[in-house]
Amino acid sequence: MKRKLRVCCRGSLPTRAFVLGVMLLSILSDTATVAGRPAASGQIPEALGPLRLGEVKPEGWLRATLLRDLKTGYAGHLDELLQDPQTKKFLLRPENNDFVTRENNRGCRCDKSGLAMPPALRTWWHGEMIGDWHDGLLRAAFLTGEPRARAKADRFVAAILKSQDEDGYIGIYPKGCRFHFARPDGELWTQRCVLLPLLAYYEFTGREDVLDAVQRAVKLTISQYGHGKRNYFDTPNQRDCGISHGLMYLDVLDWLYRLTGDEAYRRAALSLYDDYNAARNVLVKDGQLEKLLDPTIPFSGHGPDVMGFLRVTLLCHHLSGKRVYWQAWQNAIRKVQRHLGVGGSPLSGHGEEIKAKDQRPDMPYEYCSTFYLEHSLIWALQKTGAARFGDMIERTLFNAAQGARFADGKALTYYSADERLWVRQRPPEGRGNRRFIYTAAFYPSCCHDSGARVYPYAISAMWMRSRGDNGGGLVATLYGPSRVETEVNGTRVTVVEETGYPFSFDVRFSIQAERPVAFPLCLRIPAWSAEPSVTAAGASVTRDERGYLVVSKEWKSGDQVRVQLRPAIRGLRAVDGRTALAYGPLVFCLPIPEKTQIVRRFPPVGPDQIGGFCAYQFDPADLASARRPLKLFAERPGFGFRVVKNKAADPLYPWDRPPLTLRGTMLGAGGRHESVTLLPMGSTLLRRTFFATSK
Ligand SMILES: [Zn+2]
Repeated sequence: MKRKLRVCCRGSLPTRAFVLGVMLLSILSDTATVAGRPAASGQIPEALGPLRLGEVKPEGWLRATLLRDLKTGYAGHLDELLQDPQTKKFLLRPENNDFVTRENNRGCRCDKSGLAMPPALRTWWHGEMIGDWHDGLLRAAFLTGEPRARAKADRFVAAILKSQDEDGYIGIYPKGCRFHFARPDGELWTQRCVLLPLLAYYEFTGREDVLDAVQRAVKLTISQYGHGKRNYFDTPNQRDCGISHGLMYLDVLDWLYRLTGDEAYRRAALSLYDDYNAARNVLVKDGQLEKLLDPTIPFSGHGPDVMGFLRVTLLCHHLSGKRVYWQAWQNAIRKVQRHLGVGGSPLSGHGEEIKAKDQRPDMPYEYCSTFYLEHSLIWALQKTGAARFGDMIERTLFNAAQGARFADGKALTYYSADERLWVRQRPPEGRGNRRFIYTAAFYPSCCHDSGARVYPYAISAMWMRSRGDNGGGLVATLYGPSRVETEVNGTRVTVVEETGYPFSFDVRFSIQAERPVAFPLCLRIPAWSAEPSVTAAGASVTRDERGYLVVSKEWKSGDQVRVQLRPAIRGLRAVDGRTALAYGPLVFCLPIPEKTQIVRRFPPVGPDQIGGFCAYQFDPADLASARRPLKLFAERPGFGFRVVKNKAADPLYPWDRPPLTLRGTMLGAGGRHESVTLLPMGSTLLRRTFFATSK
């Protein structure tokens, strides 16, 4: 009761007056032009342009990891592993593709007012899983060229195109039961989940018929909503997040607008957000403008939704030029900082909701939260150009995301945590959760689908295009072994990036150009690096205000650039005041030796009978030892630790045997000193991450 009153006071007149004031300001705000096409009214140019999918390719360990995930990991074989627990059907296999069969919504009926009623709750789940898993598979297939995954991707796209109705509809609901619902549904969300891989396929292949199919589907959908029509987000009795998820249909609209410049998509995106803002019934309200404009309201909704919604106001700002959206976006990114653990994912409760109260640094987080945060941060990096979003992406990817999967890609956990002594559905202490388990397949597979996407999405965002008065340039937004092949100022250019990053901070770029061409090559300076050293013969090197080194010259084939980033061991303060150690983008943890319990074995899969797929629980081998008192020496350089290179490391599979460790001394029980070795979070299962410091 008390809480309700407080919220009421805070959300009433002052906030509304503030919103109106900012809105008025936004009407008077500046307008701008967008390079390449006439600007729509108020549209603001993005700082960086994404490269076409396929122009950035992984090399070195990134390529090796992606290939192994496809060949022998769950990501390439989830269609052969994941069964619907009720029907026992392998729901990702072509014959069970719900966009084609519409099997799960066969019992859909309409009520008296013509609104559709799905036959049960969550009949949209399979649509999400089918779209999202194929999105990861398809991207990884094209990024590596792995032929079997390519064949699955081709088959999937062909099946979806074949399923398209004459009116353009692509979706999971039968004719007569679409777009407007009387009950919880997943119309917009599942459409988004299947249209994104189609758009990715279009970019990788250039197949215009695929782009046409997506446009027909989207034109049909956006004609159903908008001013004077029924608000999709106000469907009554929302008991799951299917409708809230639908706000991320904006991903499709933004991408189509970028590809085609068709005003209809821009208008539809802004209108969809207006509808979401006006909805009273929608389950997850954290992304509503009024809530975002009040910086004191913490996030509290479903983690993956809130992490996805982060990017909505930034998108609307760029599409409309309205400052009110910019203000809301800035608040959103400030708010999310208060929820993130040191691994870069939001500290959450057992019901997948983000927690603001009583935070502990070892709270769990859903893999989907981790992925959707990464996805929002990629947008933030691209639209604002601010280097700090690159730092945030790498933190999330290399710690929370990598720390929730097996290095060899055989298994992943739905719920992970920055620190944990058990991975067990019913641990002896604390609350249990059936999602605390490492497994090759879990139903629902949302988190496994997210796990299949974190690297493909990050790889395609490693390079972006800058725009300037004197033409375009290239920006190394995230570091890692890669190759970018694109056109810069009318000239074909290839840049090969050789590095063992994030385990090495020495990064070499080799340039090939079909003829000499001048452009700036911008290199992100991570906030954790001291002044980097740069070697680039004949180039001018400056720093820009967004956080990049700008290396400019007329490039010709054979030119080289070398940058050496300079991390130092640093302490990260956890929400309870304890300290975690980091070096570069990596958080380091004390690995806890574990006892392994295999709780399920999956039969071998595929023509090669790939085996080794299991579900696991882990206990500490020695609980007393796992819990022994250990403190960091606060006053010693590097908290008493130094960086030690591991000669036995495998450079192609660095998470299996990490090339970097932190070795040092900690203060144990009775003032005893103890030598310990810390490993990157992404190379540990059970781990201790947070330590008190000695006085
Ligand atoms: Zn999930």
